[in-house]
Amino acid sequence: ITRFAPSPTGPLHLGHAYSAILAHDMARAAGGQFLLRIEDIDRQRSKPEWEAQIYEDLRWLGLSWAGPVLRQSDRLTIYRPTLENMWEQGLLYACTCSRRDIEAAAAAPQEGVPVGPDGIVYPGTCRARGARRPGQPLPQAALRLRMDLAARDCSFEEIGPAHRGLQRITRAQMIRDVGDIVLARREMGTSYHLSVVLDDAAQGITHVTRGEDLFEATSIHVTLQKLLELPTPTYCHHKLIRDENGKRLAKRDNARAIAKYRAEGATPADIRRLVGLIPSA
Ligand code: GLU
Repeated sequence: ITRFAPSPTGPLHLGHAYSAILAHDMARAAGGQFLLRIEDIDRQRSKPEWEAQIYEDLRWLGLSWAGPVLRQSDRLTIYRPTLENMWEQGLLYACTCSRRDIEAAAAAPQEGVPVGPDGIVYPGTCRARGARRPGQPLPQAALRLRMDLAARDCSFEEIGPAHRGLQRITRAQMIRDVGDIVLARREMGTSYHLSVVLDDAAQGITHVTRGEDLFEATSIHVTLQKLLELPTPTYCHHKLIRDENGKRLAKRDNARAIAKYRAEGATPADIRRLVGLIPSA
């Protein structure tokens, strides 16, 4: 069971097409299922018209998905009990630091700011303030995970083209290189990391196929799966589609939007050719 999990914050481009086709074809080749999930927890940037365009582009590409589409914005009440549980266990604390506070506190003289897969490694300011109050209701604040309590040694299988194989994650490495990540943003009531882990489990995903840019984040996802006693899927991180200057495509990169190729008369086979999935004639 594979999935494609786009955020409806802009047009799908060639990189998305590549990712979706790989996940779809992997499931089909194994007699499995390909599922779709709309990652729209960012209510500011997500737009219904981009969501509609996603369905249209995928159908045009000839990709069909099994069952209903899972929308993260419909699942905020599902994420909350998990956060409440973690709060009661003392695994979370409220954080009121601004980005600037974090940068200032994290900067080590001479060495600059330590950056992990989730951005700057949080220096622990609010943890040290003792902002942890089990027994009280979940605060309306950013909630950070106590990595020292959450992480344990674990591993996952990576079967992507980089042939990484078994990947070990140590507790020490999570504490040092990742730190206390935000598990619920104040304005969202959740975070990408928490939602992706709960939803991959809810959808029974066995193989996560996604871009190489998310490889580093996988240690966070696997750590959360262990903590929440959820199964760990196999991961396949694929190459990123780049432009002629070697820069990876971004949502802003309308020039490579699937819709634009369509409007110019390209066929789905042309798209497969453009991303290197079938040899050019
Ligand atoms: N929603 C993420 C994105 O559009 C993908 C998340 C994932 O595949 O885990 O980049």
